[in-house]
Parts: sequence; structure tokens; C-alpha cells
Amino acid sequence: MSEQIYDVVIIGGGPAGYSSALYCARAGLKTIVLEHLSAGGQMTLTEIIENYPGFDEGIDGFTLGDQMQQQAEKFGAESELTSVTSVELTGDIKVVHTSDAGDYETRCVVIATGANARQLGLPNEAALADKGIHYCAACDGMRFKGKTVALVGGGNTALEDALLLSRLCEKVYLIHRRDQYRAEKFYADAVAEATNIEPVLNSVVESVDVEGGFKGVTVRNVKTDETRFLETDALFVSVGRVPNTEFLNGAVAVDGAGYIEADETTRTSVPGVFAVGDIRTKPMRQVVTAAADGAVSSMFAQQYIEELKAKA
Ligand SMILES: Cc1cc2nc3c(=O)[nH]c(=O)nc-3n(C[C@H](O)[C@H](O)[C@H](O)COP(=O)(O)OP(=O)(O)OC[C@H]3O[C@@H](n4cnc5c(N)ncnc54)[C@H](O)[C@@H]3O)c2cc1C
Repeated sequence: MSEQIYDVVIIGGGPAGYSSALYCARAGLKTIVLEHLSAGGQMTLTEIIENYPGFDEGIDGFTLGDQMQQQAEKFGAESELTSVTSVELTGDIKVVHTSDAGDYETRCVVIATGANARQLGLPNEAALADKGIHYCAACDGMRFKGKTVALVGGGNTALEDALLLSRLCEKVYLIHRRDQYRAEKFYADAVAEATNIEPVLNSVVESVDVEGGFKGVTVRNVKTDETRFLETDALFVSVGRVPNTEFLNGAVAVDGAGYIEADETTRTSVPGVFAVGDIRTKPMRQVVTAAADGAVSSMFAQQYIEELKAKA
């Protein structure tokens, strides 16, 4: 058990976690970030972030993550490299259990564990991530302005992504395994109207050709078994995301897709527990919205701690 009781234990050291740490530490709260990989979270997977305000030339995700950590620590936030394995969230003093750094007692818990993009399962997929295979149209679409891309998926987000790409790219192949999209009619109608989106239905991605640079995507029609090569400059994957909530073991309410239910206050179903960044229900998952959540969480953590003191 930690020797002292923390005011705030933040689980996850991505932009949401370190923004929360920065604001909590600057508000005089005893704060620690528990992160099991490295500061920056998903940002470390990309070589360039071009849409975080203040960096007109863009900045690589690893450097931005490192700077966020340093900035929070400058104001007194602590960091520990460890994995959170389970939590006890009922009661005024909550306990966070870790794999190898013991247990932490705290008044508030900020959950900032993010969500990972679901992969297609192609053999070379991990090696091509951010180098031809992309999981975020809003992040990387601009890199393919005027080019031809393919996008896999059939839900609302996938069709929204296809429409975004169609405004930037010359042509978009929209690959979906069924004969109809799962998306709402509104999105399906908009896709049907876009003259530069070519639907490739009843089809799955078999492989990507990267011989001497990204050449294109081979798709297989699941009804006829025929294959077709699509010449493209990139493949976008939009087949859902997996929120990192296993360690919670159902302690906090989640929505149908597994995201933690929390509104703009970042408050969850459990008093004193906040959810920030990609892990919470929200319309847009980006670095800037994650950082914004972190800031907001500190305000409501302070308020919660004041209420605890008044109660004592
Ligand atoms: C390839 C790629 C490119 C992107 N490009 C852009 C871009 O250009 N612009 C943009 O705005 N957004 C971009 N994004 C999206 C952006 O990175 C995310 O929206 C943002 O990182 C979310 O921040 P977060 O702090 O909520 O979560 P994350 O960044 O996912 O951080 C969560 C952290 O929690 C840690 N964690 C999880 N479980 C545990 C546990 N049990 N114990 C301890 N630690 C744990 C993880 O290791 C991780 O470090 C990109 C994402 C990817 C994958």
C-alpha cells in the first residue's frame, strides 16, 4: 500500500492522463500517473501530428507525449511505470492495484486508458501501421490529399471517414464484407451521392502490396471468391475500436460499445471516479479533445475533494 493517500491517481499516461495530471498538480492536488508502456499513449504510434494547435510544422507523437509528461512533473505530478490490474472504487478512499508497484490509496481516480483500433489481422499489418495502413481518417487523411485510398468498414464511423476522405482524395474505394452497410441511412445516402466513392461490397481485404512502396489492396468477393486488385496509395481501417477497461471488472457503467459513460464533466457512474479521453463516450477522439477532458476532470476532482472534506 502507498504510504500516503493520493488526491488523484490517474490510470494511463496518454494526452488525457497527462493533461489531467498537469491541471491537478497545478491545483495543489497530490497526483500520480500510472502508465504501463510509455508517456504519450497512442500518439507514440505516429510520426507526425499536424492538428494539435501550436505546432505549425507538426510534431512527432513521441516527443509530444514526453513533453506532456515533463510539463506535468514540473508542477509536482509523479509517474510510475506499472500496469493497473484492478480497482476498488466504492468508499471515500479508493484502492488501485498494480502488477508490480503495489497498491495506491486515493480520493479520486481518473481513468485515461484509451482505446485501441481494431485490426484486420493481415500478416504485415503491425509493420505497416502509419506507413500505408491507417486507422484514423481525421488524423492521416490529409497526407493523401489528391490521391486514391481504400477504406474498410460499414458502420457509421466508417462511412463518416469515407465521406471525409472523399473531400480530400481523388478516389475512395469503400470495402465492406456485406451487401449493405450497417450505418444509418443518412450516411449511406451521402456515400451514394459522393461521385468519387466506389463501393466494393461483399468483399474482404486479402492482402496489401507494398513491393517498392504502397501499391494497393487485393480484395476477395466473399460470394464469388473472385479477387480484384485495387491500385491505391493507402488503406484506412475503420472496423471499430476496443476501449481498455478490463481492469475495471464492471465497476463503472459503460455504453453498448464498451466506452465509459461520462458527460462533459468527465464524471462517471461512481462518485470520485472520472473518465477522460478516448475511453469515454464522446463524438470525437483526438489529442486535442483528450487534453481538454484532462483539464475538465481536474476541476470536478477538486470539487469532489472539497465535498469530501465538508462531509468529514
Ligand atoms: C496511429 C495513430 C495516429 C494518430 N494521429 C492523430 C493525429 O494526428 N491527431 C490527433 O489528434 N489524434 C491522433 N490519433 C488519436 C490520438 O492519439 C488519441 O485520440 C489520443 O491519444 C487519446 O488519448 P488518451 O490519453 O485518451 O488515450 P491513449 O493515447 O490511448 O493513452 C492511454 C494510455 O493508457 C495506458 N494504459 C492502458 N491500460 C492501462 C493499464 N491497465 N495500466 C496502466 N496504463 C494503461 C496505455 O498504455 C496508454 O499509454 C492517432 C492515433 C493513432 C493510433
